[in-house]
Amino acid sequence: MSSPMQQIPLLTSSFIEHAHRWHGDQEIVSRLSEGSIHRYSYRDAYRRSCRVANLLAQWGVENGERVATLAWNSHRHFELYYGIGGSGAVIHTINPRYTTDQIRFIINDAKDSYLFFDRDLLPIVEAVAPHCDSIRGFVLMEDKARMPSQSSLKNLMCYETLLLEVSDVYDWPPLDENNLVSLCYTSGTTGNPKGVGYTHRSTCLHTLVAASANALGVSRSDCVLPVVPLFHINAWELPYICAMSGAKLVLPGAQLDGESLFELMQTEGVTLSAGVPTIWMGLLKYMKDNALSLPELKKVGTGGSACPRSIIRELHETHGIRVMHGWGMTETSSVVTLNTQTAEEKGLSMNDYCDHMSLQGPPLWGVDLKVVNEEGQELPRDSGSVGELKVRGHWVCESYHNRHDTAVDEGGWLATGDVGMITPEGSLQLTDRLKDLIKSGGEWISSAQLEDIALEHPLIEMASAIAVEHPKWDERPLLVVKTVEGNHLSAQEIRDSYVGKLAKWAIPDDVVFVSEFPLGATGKIHKLSLKQRFRDHFLAS
Ligand code: ADP
Repeated sequence: MSSPMQQIPLLTSSFIEHAHRWHGDQEIVSRLSEGSIHRYSYRDAYRRSCRVANLLAQWGVENGERVATLAWNSHRHFELYYGIGGSGAVIHTINPRYTTDQIRFIINDAKDSYLFFDRDLLPIVEAVAPHCDSIRGFVLMEDKARMPSQSSLKNLMCYETLLLEVSDVYDWPPLDENNLVSLCYTSGTTGNPKGVGYTHRSTCLHTLVAASANALGVSRSDCVLPVVPLFHINAWELPYICAMSGAKLVLPGAQLDGESLFELMQTEGVTLSAGVPTIWMGLLKYMKDNALSLPELKKVGTGGSACPRSIIRELHETHGIRVMHGWGMTETSSVVTLNTQTAEEKGLSMNDYCDHMSLQGPPLWGVDLKVVNEEGQELPRDSGSVGELKVRGHWVCESYHNRHDTAVDEGGWLATGDVGMITPEGSLQLTDRLKDLIKSGGEWISSAQLEDIALEHPLIEMASAIAVEHPKWDERPLLVVKTVEGNHLSAQEIRDSYVGKLAKWAIPDDVVFVSEFPLGATGKIHKLSLKQRFRDHFLAS
């Protein structure tokens, strides 16, 4: 039976077409690598995306072919999202913080045919290029004047020169909505990274839901600054959400320190931002040290690792900024759950509010989740039954790129490797990653909980709890701490701060102090490095 409704495929090109036709004057602001500010409109971005699509057509890039980017958040990267993905090719966003070995591996795994990259990343590209035979051309995302005088790259081209040579008129093809539009690799902390391919359909559905009021709640009156990188899980769909909503978009380039972000947020009037918790720590510290505020910033989305209560409290109490704490992963196109405003939270004390907001929230429409025991049986929503989190839905991956085996069970559920529980109200409360839990004498200790309590201490800037081998208990928790500059704390003082908050056996046996934390490719604390560094701590003592 034919449908009485029009059947139009869900395609990402529809977002930029809509922005161009109906929000054409809305601004996109970028901080470029040399520090200057670039401004243009959705109308301009649309025309330049058309040029990119024409360029790929001229090169003979076929549907489904992977075209890679190695770049920070900028207007050029934004154009490539649409120019590549909208034309039928697949935009493969590569994380510049991967090791060169990982970058070489994923370019070969994805068989990328072209690579667009930012100028400061030229040394990485030169290092991997001799080992990446699939790449036919390298495009430096700069204008002619800023091209390097020499490079070992054979087919090096200039982005701005190329765009001038092609037309800015293009008809977006009516692709199959189940075709891939983008590709992103997992961070590969436990082996080689694995590719997750997103389809036009999954991306459009996720964009619609992630923009809605129960999620990020983005409208045309917003000014959005995605700190989350365009190279990682499509920056939580913000490049699509902003175009669809007609929101002003501010792209911060590579400078993500507290001062640079503050300055951009203040001058552009940013109302909504999104990033991992370490970003908010940097911003809050800068604001505190300089007695500053951001009256226009109303909401920040955070995820990627647990948001410490101390951040939730300071943002809310001192600055009136709401934290939207969510959970997701590369395999789930980012956001699956999000803890946003509820009617019940109005009467809560500050402590209860922080407890409430440190939950990861309920799932959005389009995805479902459950917590299961070791036998795979679903556990009750009672805030106490802890198990592995499983998830399924329209934007959850079924298999990895280039792998033929399925990633899900017979019911379509993806095992996440995360451990947690669900409250009676239906909010997800993550306890830990399976691999980060600390198993002491047969009992599980949550590293996230130890970190959260440590970060409540005003003199602790960063903290990470890791499992270290122990002769008697198998594993015991060791807390690694960076204190606020110029301050000293003893291990015993920190251990004392846990008394009364946790069972005695869960309190870290020792605390070690570091001046810097190793950060992984997505800006989170790299626990594996810490575990390797302190592997023999208890055995040695
Ligand atoms: P990786 O962390 O491996 O670089 P992802 O960006 O895919 O790659 O991260 C997904 C993981 O991040 C999740 O499986 C989970 O362990 C963790 N995570 C995401 N959001 C949260 C959150 N709000 N609280 C705690 N952990 C989180």
